[in-house]
This record gives sequence, structure tokens and C-alpha cells, in this order.
Amino acid sequence: MAHLNKIVIVGGGSAGWICAAMLSHYFQNGPTQVELVESEEIGTIGVGESTIPPFLQLIRTLGINEQEFIQETQAAFKLGIRFENWLEKGDVYYHPFGQIGGPLEVNEFYQCWLRAKQNGHPSKLQDFAPASVMAEAGKFMLPAAAQKTMIANANYALHVDARLVALYLRRFAEARGVKRTEGIVTEVATRPDGGVAKVVLKDGREVAGDFFIDCSGFRALLIGKTLGEPFRDWSDVLLCDRAVVAQTENVGPPHPYTLVQAQNFGWRWRIPLQHRAGNGYVFASKYLSDDEATATLMRQVQGEVVLGPNIIPFKTGVRERPWVKNVVSIGLSCGFIEPLESTALHLIYKGMDYLLRFMPDMDADPVLAAEYNRRLVADYEEIRDFIVLHYVTTRRDDTPFWRDYQQVVPPESLRERIALFKAAGVLRDGVDDMFRAPSWQSVMEGMGVRPERYQQLVDRIPLGVIMNLMDKSAPMLADFVATLPSHEEFLRTHCPAA
Ligand code: FAD
Repeated sequence: MAHLNKIVIVGGGSAGWICAAMLSHYFQNGPTQVELVESEEIGTIGVGESTIPPFLQLIRTLGINEQEFIQETQAAFKLGIRFENWLEKGDVYYHPFGQIGGPLEVNEFYQCWLRAKQNGHPSKLQDFAPASVMAEAGKFMLPAAAQKTMIANANYALHVDARLVALYLRRFAEARGVKRTEGIVTEVATRPDGGVAKVVLKDGREVAGDFFIDCSGFRALLIGKTLGEPFRDWSDVLLCDRAVVAQTENVGPPHPYTLVQAQNFGWRWRIPLQHRAGNGYVFASKYLSDDEATATLMRQVQGEVVLGPNIIPFKTGVRERPWVKNVVSIGLSCGFIEPLESTALHLIYKGMDYLLRFMPDMDADPVLAAEYNRRLVADYEEIRDFIVLHYVTTRRDDTPFWRDYQQVVPPESLRERIALFKAAGVLRDGVDDMFRAPSWQSVMEGMGVRPERYQQLVDRIPLGVIMNLMDKSAPMLADFVATLPSHEEFLRTHCPAA
């Protein structure tokens, strides 16, 4: 087996530097050289600030100290997402991270709760999720530091400053031998087999390699422009195609959740960090102009604007084959699903994680690329379905945008998932699934999709036992959460900004 001599990464946004950091970690003493080409003049997209819990897997896998990372990137904690005005105007629900309730004997908590609901119990599902109870109360404690308490089953992610994360990972990767080259790629030369041989920079320098990772963002210089790999367009089920973004100063304590508020023609986010907040309005240009979207966002943000507003156009979908010949596309060059559930950074990690497992040698075996493509496209499709679920289940019909969404036919895979869930709360929970049962249950419940019946196994438990559990556990959880430090206090004492 002949190892690759050299891997070239084209692009140094979040994708480029995550890939470089992971490669440098694994090939520290290895035979493979890594070079990253990026252009400060072109710059990065500059958004991508909300994450999901597996993002911390990346930090831990690289052996990075989490507390130090939070300090250096001015990050804050995220316990889930607060959805406002999605089902109807005025409606609020959470998608919390971690577990919801605890199992009763072998029965899933959710099924017990369904039975309690059918018997008139007044509780909401999210009352039993430690993460949403903490998020709503503005409290925070690391679940690992609170073992044996009711919040041990919560989980969390981070709100991060994208620029500081890229800088942090750049330092990490460069310290482990990654070579960074500044320059604009103006030409890509191919090999006789159609793969990429080298990139040529504006000033004439050439960077050759055996294997290329295309992290050039929406430009998709290698996978799209050079290799012409088709893009599966998902704009028929994801109607938004632009965002206006702005950074503001923080007003009030940072909330430990991403705020995702439905608007007339899309939705708005607010992501508080330690030193500022990120804001954006994701909208559909068919119904709203850039100026109107900008005015709407500016009316709603709190605090002085410190950067922006800027318009970002995007296309949702994924490459037919993310890996073609000796080029693998990771990040926006591979695909994009709108950022409603903040999955893009995780997909970068996931792509890189698969690549490390399927790393080719000099004689790349095409079966590796085929399996990589199957897995990664399945991940993108799963996330697409999860995002589409948030829209197609709305009861809003107050604008043409929401009325049109009611007519959107969901992908067949999502229709099957909804039907299975409605029948008896059954979920397809695969090992590789990004979103597990509590996530699907939270969004289904939040969007008014409740199973017609609970699973009959639950009938083995006396109803009184179930009702008693529901009566007692939510108030106990709320009482316990009230004793925890506020999110702001926790940040100040546990990981103050560096
Ligand atoms: P970019 O940041 O665009 O980087 C591309 C790189 O390629 C740059 O370094 C650029 O200089 C370089 N480059 C391009 N052309 C050339 C050239 N010719 N020569 C040399 N270099 C070149 N993700 C999340 O996980 N959470 C979120 O909350 C989130 N919010 C988002 C909101 C919006 C509106 C959008 C559009 C995306 C969001 N994302 C989010 C996605 C996230 O921003 C991206 O997935 C992530 O930043 C990775 O981007 P990238 O590195 O692929 O591309």
C-alpha cells in the first residue's frame, strides 16, 4: 500500500480548517503532507455560529481542552433551539438537546407521556427535558458535573464565533505541520484520468497534490467548476434561498439557546456569544426583496449593529457524488441545507470522519468513494427531511410563503417517517442518524404531529404509576433547575473570555 504523499485543501473557511485540523491530528507523524490554499482577498462566508452537540466531539477528538476553546472563541452554551411562531403565530416550543424524561421500566418515556396525555394529563413534553427547562429559565450547568441529578441526561452544544474558530483551528493545524499558502486559485489542471493534478495561483505558483479536498465554499472550484459534478437541487422543498446577516452588541444576558423565530417570509435567528450576538433573516426571494428583508431584520435586532447587514445568497441541495476521482468536496462546496437546525459544521466533521476511515492510497479504490458518497448523501437527506418537517407541518396561512409551504409535497422518505410516527410514535432510529428520537419527538410535538395511539406495551404499567410520575417529575425538575447558576454566571466563573 502506497500512502498518499500530499493532500491539498483548497479553501480556508470553517470547512478548510476543520479538515486541516483533523488531518494534522491523525497524520502528525505520518507520511502524508497537507497544504491548505486560501485567499484573504476572497474571504470566508463568515457565518456558521450555532452548533449541535456532536460539534463537541470534534473538539474532544482533537484533544482540545473544551474550557480553553470556549474562552478563546468567546463561545457560549446552547441547550437547544427555541422555535417561535412556527406552528401558529404566538406559539413557542423547544427542541432540547439530550434526553426527555427517563424510561419507566423498559418503556420509553415518550410512550408513557402519550398515555398520560390520552388520559388528560396537562403537561407539555418539554417540561420533562432538562435542557429545555434550563434553557427557558436561563440556567446552565454541565451535565457531566451534575451526575446523579435530574440534569445528567441533558446535553449541550456551543454558539461560536466562526472567525475565531477558524483562527483557533488554523493555529492548531499549523502547529502540527500543515502548510498554509496564501493566494487566489485561477486555474485547475487535470490529470489524464480526469482527476485534479494541481491548482495554479494568480501569481503563477502551482500547488500539486495526490488528493484534493475542495473547501472553496459555494464557488465549488474543483468538484463543480472543474469536475462538473451535478448538484441535486432541493429548492422545491426548501423555499428559502437568501439570508441577511448582521452582528450586534449583546443586550442583556446571553440566552443558552438559539432563537429561531418564524417571520412572514422565512425565519430569523439570534445567536448570543460572550462578546456579541449573531443575527440573520433567512428568506425566500420569490416573496421578499433584499431591502425589505434587511429592513425587517434591522427593526427586530437588539443593540448596536457592529457588522453588516450583508446579504448571502444560497442554493440548497447536495452534490450527486461528494467524492469524485481524487477530489472530495467538504462544506458548502458539497452541499447546503438551510441553517435552521445548525447542521453544516457537523456535516463537515462527519464528512472528514468518513474520509479518515476510507482514506485512499495512491491507487484509490473506487469502492471507497462509492461508500463514502452513499453515507454522506444519506446524512444530507436525513437532515433535509428534518428541516422540511418544520415547514410542511405549519398551520400558518397568513402569507403566500406559508400558504405555498402547505402545498409542498415532502420527500417520500419524510412522508413515510411522518406516517410511521403518527401510527404509534415509531421512529426509524439508525446508528448513523444525526437526530435521535428526542429531536424528532420534540419537533413533531411542537408542530402538532402527535401519534394516534401509544404503544400497547405501556398498558402493562398501572395508569396511576404513570400519572404519578408525570405529576411529580416536572415540578421536581423545575425546582432543581431553579437552584442552578444562570448561564451568564456559569460562563463568567467557568470559562471567562480570554
Ligand atoms: P467559506 O467560508 O465560503 O470558505 C471558502 C474558502 O475558500 C475561503 O477561505 C475562500 O477564501 C476560499 N476560496 C474560494 N475561492 C478561492 C480561490 N479562487 N482561491 C483561493 N481560495 C478560494 N453552519 C452551522 O453549522 N451553523 C450555523 O448556524 C450556520 N449558519 C449559517 C447561516 C447562513 C446564512 C449560511 C449561508 C450558512 C450557515 N452555516 C451554518 C453554514 C456554515 O457557514 C458553513 O458550512 C461553514 O462556514 C463552512 O463554509 P466553507 O468553509 O465551506 O465555505
